[in-house]
Amino acid sequence: MKQELANHIVKAPLTVYNESDFKGLQFSKSDFLIDDRTLTNLAKKIIIDRHTKNVSYYGKNNQHYSKVCVPSEKDVFISNIKQVYLPFQDVKFDVMQTKYEFQAAENAQNLLAYTKMMNCNICGSYIEQKGILCNSCGAAVHGVRLLDSHGFRCHQCGKSLCRKCTYDLGLNNKVCKGCAEKSGKTLTPVSEKMHQRYIVGGCCSFFGIIGVFTHFAIIGIVLLIIGIIVLALDYRGKAPPYEII
Ligand SMILES: [Zn+2]
Ligand SMILES: [Zn+2]
Ligand SMILES: [Zn+2]
Repeated sequence: MKQELANHIVKAPLTVYNESDFKGLQFSKSDFLIDDRTLTNLAKKIIIDRHTKNVSYYGKNNQHYSKVCVPSEKDVFISNIKQVYLPFQDVKFDVMQTKYEFQAAENAQNLLAYTKMMNCNICGSYIEQKGILCNSCGAAVHGVRLLDSHGFRCHQCGKSLCRKCTYDLGLNNKVCKGCAEKSGKTLTPVSEKMHQRYIVGGCCSFFGIIGVFTHFAIIGIVLLIIGIIVLALDYRGKAPPYEII
């Protein structure tokens, strides 16, 4: 078992189920890989390893000695061995056309899940905060932001949208497909290419540098700082290996 999973399982008391509790649920069960005897020996070995210490001391002759102290098998007493089945969930579901899945194990308090569910459908990176769910296709994406937004809100009906499901009806008038069709204008999807950040950041930096070398030093410095901030601003996060929900 992976370490984080083992920690999670013992963190809160386990609820005990009978097989009959899983009636109607699809589940599979395999045999234990290790028998009780092998498990006892394995446990003893681990306990011995954990308590093995390198001890250093001074003898009567003032000489320095070091010695490895290993507990013997007789020093370790194992009173009980119990093998249990832990339910590990493999969940697949759809939100509209978008497929999601996660694998998880629960203790009495929460769920430890391995999932890429919170990865943005536009950029593929982790949605740390302010994510939205597209109401046209069901994709989870980074929320609305000023430049190169991965998510939008329909200006007509307020529906939350991912970039792929957003249509342009002119400057600052982003709408969903339904509202775009109702408008009678030609359907222009929002471009999948994103370079607003580079254009704005680049321009601010460029004019900032010009400002610094002309009479507008203060405005130039401010522009340069804004430009650098815009260029450095990257919302993308790396997904954690697992999440506790
Ligand atoms: Zn994104
Ligand atoms: Zn969408
Ligand atoms: Zn709409």
